[in-house]
Amino acid sequence: MNENGKKRSAGKPSDSGIRIIEEIVEGFWDCPNCNAKNRGSAQQCESCGAIRSENVKFYVDEDSKVIDDEAELAKAKAGPDWVCPFCSNMSPSSATKCTGCGSDRSDGKNRATRELAAGETGKDNGNQKKSQKPEKSAPTPAWLKFGCGIFALMFLILMALSCHEKVVKIEITANQWVRQIERAEYKTVRENAWAKEVPAGARKFSSERQVRSHKEIPDGFEEVNEEYTEKVKVGEKQVEDGKVDLGNGRFKVKYKVVPEYREEKKTRRVKRQKFRKEPIYDEMVYYDIERWVPFETVELKGTTDEPRWPDSGASSNVPPQIGDLTEKARIETYVVKAKKEGSPEEFEIEKLRDKPLTLEQFMKLRIGTKWEAIFSGLGDLRDIKFQ
Ligand SMILES: [Zn+2]
Ligand SMILES: [Zn+2]
Repeated sequence: MNENGKKRSAGKPSDSGIRIIEEIVEGFWDCPNCNAKNRGSAQQCESCGAIRSENVKFYVDEDSKVIDDEAELAKAKAGPDWVCPFCSNMSPSSATKCTGCGSDRSDGKNRATRELAAGETGKDNGNQKKSQKPEKSAPTPAWLKFGCGIFALMFLILMALSCHEKVVKIEITANQWVRQIERAEYKTVRENAWAKEVPAGARKFSSERQVRSHKEIPDGFEEVNEEYTEKVKVGEKQVEDGKVDLGNGRFKVKYKVVPEYREEKKTRRVKRQKFRKEPIYDEMVYYDIERWVPFETVELKGTTDEPRWPDSGASSNVPPQIGDLTEKARIETYVVKAKKEGSPEEFEIEKLRDKPLTLEQFMKLRIGTKWEAIFSGLGDLRDIKFQ
């Protein structure tokens, strides 16, 4: 309705750049007698001559024309029509006598104006009240439901199996113990460090100047390209912001004019400080020093005999002498083999209740002894009943 000849009050842009503009359009009314569609300003039905009573509703549609004639605009803005108390005819605000029966205006009351929300046309039955269909989400496909069901079921079965425990008789078929000692040797090693970081007890061997770091020194200016983004206005979007039924067959339509922007990448020349790197020297010292250095691990293994520690050869010199050995860690590992009663299949037992076998447990689990063992529903050995 606003393609050509727009007559608008100039709007002031707000902080966000949004302007409000208004235009006056002529509406329509449908004759209650013959149903003909009449121009809003028509006082009587142009088809059958019936009067435009107070009950007639004004509306706008795609045929509504913007009013840009000064005289017509003045009529539109003059105010609502008034209703004749004698013949129900509606006369323009400027008329002092009823345009239908000629009665005096004195008791005539003004037709009501009304505000319409954006998109409303003013028609009762209009299509503005579109029945909104509730959006249905796509149904879950059957195969997916089935797959999820199977998955959940398997999970439940696994949970049940792993929680379920049963007792089975087992017989010990083999024993294996391993005892290891990790060691270190006291020896002279060559190291290097910056002069101030050389440890006590070091015997200096040599030293040299080396670049330790760099510092940046201002070194004039240069011009470089710098990228930046700029908001460029590319147009405007006009959105209806409601209407006013002026009560005289005309409507005031309000629009929000929203600017639209695009981010544009641009390049500009900028001056930038240049720097040059200057080396900072320090003294690197090479020295000899005594350290405990990892040395070969000693190990003892056995089966049915009582576990023993190997000889670590550690010395107790204070302070330590070159060539001295020391213990760093002791590691003991106990494993037994077993089979279920009536089954030839052997399996290893390294842990009970997730803890490594202790020496005490290992010494009880001698070859040929029989025990009640607790297995999970999945067949993992959990524990052995020692009582
Ligand atoms: Zn009519
Ligand atoms: Zn009248």
